[in-house]
Amino acid sequence: MITSLRIDRALREDFYQSKFDYFRTVSFYSAILTVLMQTTYFVTDCQIFGHFAYKTVIPRFSVIVPILFLLIVNKHIKSYKVGAILYYLFPHIAMWATIWTIVYLPNRDFAREGFIIMHFAFLAVGMAMPIKYHLVAHGLLFANIILSNLWIHYATFDMMLTLAAPLFIGCVLMLYINEKAYQDHYLMLRDVAHNSITDQLTGAYNRKILTRILNQDHPTLKHDFSDDIVVLMLDLDKFKNVNDTYGHEAGDHILQLLCDTISKTVKETDYIIRWGGEEFVVFLMGYTLEQGRATAEEIRSRVSKVETGIEPITVSIGVCQYHGEDYHETIRRVDHALYYAKDHGRNQVILETEIPN
Ligand code: GH3
Ligand code: MG
Ligand code: MG
Repeated sequence: MITSLRIDRALREDFYQSKFDYFRTVSFYSAILTVLMQTTYFVTDCQIFGHFAYKTVIPRFSVIVPILFLLIVNKHIKSYKVGAILYYLFPHIAMWATIWTIVYLPNRDFAREGFIIMHFAFLAVGMAMPIKYHLVAHGLLFANIILSNLWIHYATFDMMLTLAAPLFIGCVLMLYINEKAYQDHYLMLRDVAHNSITDQLTGAYNRKILTRILNQDHPTLKHDFSDDIVVLMLDLDKFKNVNDTYGHEAGDHILQLLCDTISKTVKETDYIIRWGGEEFVVFLMGYTLEQGRATAEEIRSRVSKVETGIEPITVSIGVCQYHGEDYHETIRRVDHALYYAKDHGRNQVILETEIPN
């Protein structure tokens, strides 16, 4: 059975940023359209006056200034928090431009319809925003009406508020449903993205991560590529015997133990990749060759002491430096070092530079 997924507290920031990135175009155009539509009511002003409404030209068209401002700054907005403040400002700007206009109108009854339309503007802008922000930003619509009533004295003030209440609740409910649906979408995408680069048995990365590491487009990649990278290639010694003697499940368990041992030895910013079968490649980010060798030696030593529950295991490791070349070439070099280790007794670390020509 598929049920709605839950979102972790630690993921909230990322979730809201993702929701903003996904829906921001809708919110941006809604913000712009809301204030632009407000200017079209100049025609209604002329109808109310029965002639060109010169008094409402400035209030109606004053919104051009904030529109220009938003058009200029929009591409610099990255964070959903800044985006929320800016985009929600626009339905409010539209409301206050209307309120300013109403001051000059002989008939103020149409404000009621105008303010009802505003709920849809808040609904559209709210698509990209956290529901909690929406409650406040949209809720301030009531404050706009109550405040402006202090000097405008709407004929139907009570009705304005009573009509607004169910519309407000309806919009919040729709946005709540939207947020829940996006939450499932977000968690599923995360899952798919994670699974597509992860080996299911060991939790190490699979080969697909490699092009991402080297193209630097992995979200967690913080490495500065001016630093050194050392590459290790590890292969369990005589692992076939383990499978043949104790069965495949025992072998699987050993692969997990090996991966655990590697990840406890290297840094969190390093990359452990299951290259295939019982072979692992590790990218050590920001290591000199000597530090790389020491780390490989530490892994080798720890692996030989792992409590497997059956017999002790050992690992052979090839080590080389990555210089930014085509990674196939790096893999070829490190593979060469590994097989030199295999050919010369196993359970040892060999640097590519140590191999005699
Ligand atoms: P060497 O020291 O030369 O590396 O000897 P080896 O026996 O480790 O090498 P070989 O390539 O002959 O055998 C590798 C074995 O790894 C064969 C295969 O059964 C086992 N293997 C590969 N993938 C898995 C896996 O996912 N689970 C288990 N249990 N075994 C695996
Ligand atoms: Mg092996
Ligand atoms: Mg092998």
